[in-house]
Amino acid sequence: MYTGIDQLQELTKEPKIAYFSMEIGVHNDIPTYSGGLGVLAGDTIRSGADLKLPMVAVTILCRRGYFRQDIDDRGRQVEYPYEWDPSRYMQLLPYKATVQIEGREVFVQAWQYNVKSLTSGSIPVFFLDTDIAVNSPEDREITAQLYGGDLTYRLKQEIVLGLGGVRLLHEMGFEIKKYHMNEGHASFLTLELLDRFKRPIEDVWDEKLVWDKEKVKGLCVFTTHTPVEAGHDKFPYDLVSRVMGEIIPFHVLKELAGRDCLNMTMLALNLSRYINGVAKKHGEVSKNMFPGYEIYAITNGVHSFTWTCSSFKKIYDEYLPGWANEPELFVRVGRIPDEVLWNAHMEAKKSLCEYIKEQTGSLFSPDILTFGFARRATAYKRADLIFRDIERLLRIGAGKIQLVYAGKAHPKDEPGKQLIQNIFRYKEEFKDKIKIVYLKNYNMDSALRIISGVDVWLNTPLRPLEASGTSGMKAAHNGVVNFSVLDGWWIEGHIEGYTGWAIGPAPIEKMQSTDLTDMKSADRRDAEDLYSKLEKVIIPLYYDDRHMWIRMMQNAIGKNAYYFNCHRMMRRYVTEAYIR
Ligand SMILES: *Cc1c(COP(=O)(O)O)cnc(C)c1O
Repeated sequence: MYTGIDQLQELTKEPKIAYFSMEIGVHNDIPTYSGGLGVLAGDTIRSGADLKLPMVAVTILCRRGYFRQDIDDRGRQVEYPYEWDPSRYMQLLPYKATVQIEGREVFVQAWQYNVKSLTSGSIPVFFLDTDIAVNSPEDREITAQLYGGDLTYRLKQEIVLGLGGVRLLHEMGFEIKKYHMNEGHASFLTLELLDRFKRPIEDVWDEKLVWDKEKVKGLCVFTTHTPVEAGHDKFPYDLVSRVMGEIIPFHVLKELAGRDCLNMTMLALNLSRYINGVAKKHGEVSKNMFPGYEIYAITNGVHSFTWTCSSFKKIYDEYLPGWANEPELFVRVGRIPDEVLWNAHMEAKKSLCEYIKEQTGSLFSPDILTFGFARRATAYKRADLIFRDIERLLRIGAGKIQLVYAGKAHPKDEPGKQLIQNIFRYKEEFKDKIKIVYLKNYNMDSALRIISGVDVWLNTPLRPLEASGTSGMKAAHNGVVNFSVLDGWWIEGHIEGYTGWAIGPAPIEKMQSTDLTDMKSADRRDAEDLYSKLEKVIIPLYYDDRHMWIRMMQNAIGKNAYYFNCHRMMRRYVTEAYIR
């Protein structure tokens, strides 16, 4: 039975912050996320619910999800639609909004999913859906697949997200005091607001009076998430004109979104009062990319309760009661006796070994130093950097290390798929010397298993392309030490030999050129440092000085998890962005 109306009336009493994101990972079995961006959005809502913030969230339903990943014997990724049934998790609301697409009126409905906190807080997430009988078969597909289709498909999805989302919230009776655009995908919402707040034309010669940009800016917060060019959606104006039509006059739109093509990031930048990057360095990099804008930085965090495995939850509950809603308590990690911490880690590690055996038949030993690398498979993350010099890796690591990999490549990312294939090849090549597995279908559940069950979390992005990265923060929550290139959050979290280890040189402020020869030399330099620390520092420490190793695990928790959690992040968004 539908009970949403009463609930909605209750919900709409108080003005809300509306969080818009193309992807939100609310639950492992709701496959509406592809990677870090969506999981962060989920963590944002989970922390918001814990802190009882007045928020609602808007995203796309994706009935066929992102995709389910299989990998064949030769290491080729095969993609399958990930069909799921929204009615098992959510309630369909009796409201509809419309958007114009290619001149047709397309109806948009929403499913409500409540993210509930143990603190009794709750935040509704509205999943937008065009799969309605009144819509044409083509339009019913618009919200089917995350990051699927071509540029036109993406544009239609963003029209539904931005325009459809704002209209539907309005239809439901919400009063919104801030719109937070999590990445540029949602920036069409600014057009709807411009249109809504346009003033009657008193003096036709002064358009600034008509389009109340200041009012819209005052309502909008924009978080940019990547310096990777492909991460910023751009649409040719003839396409925009054909598909979306005119929401505001094109000459005004061009002033706001770029002369040559409609740049979603520019649109958001020009119509948000508060703009931020997701780590201090990324704030700087973004300022260089978009000169002339005031860009702040709020470093990402992860939801502590979600990203702590069961054996660590148990010891935190015992020694640091209240930690989940007050991660600052990690500062007292020293209260946990060494052997208790180590046993909790070994429990997680054994459980990962079991999982690997179940999934692949491969027998991993809990007594061997284990490295984890799992994230989207895409070129700049350089999953195969550790294999740059095979002879050397074998000399250093044979019999002493094991490697666990996972991650999906976007279906159209051929170099990303190639990376997976490379790792498969090395897996065969190294068979009896260094155990390697590539686990299929990386998702939130397997992420927690892998991250908590290894000893060292490896990250080797090409700088400065890792805006923040969050998986290393999850590692820290489970006493897992980071070994990573100094980019994104790790610049802020790294203390050499204390919270983990750096790979390669100290960060530079200057934008690195993406020149190919530069990339090759960065590869060489970073791989050299990786091997040298592996051999001289990490392997000896693990096998010969367990006491010091456990100190580092403590520091990962007490210094890194203490700071890089989503509660701290949300408190900053509230004080710096939402209530300004
Ligand atoms: C945390 C997480 C990510 C992000 O990993 P990064 O290393 O920060 O890129 C991606 N996918 C899943 C499923 C995650 O849980």
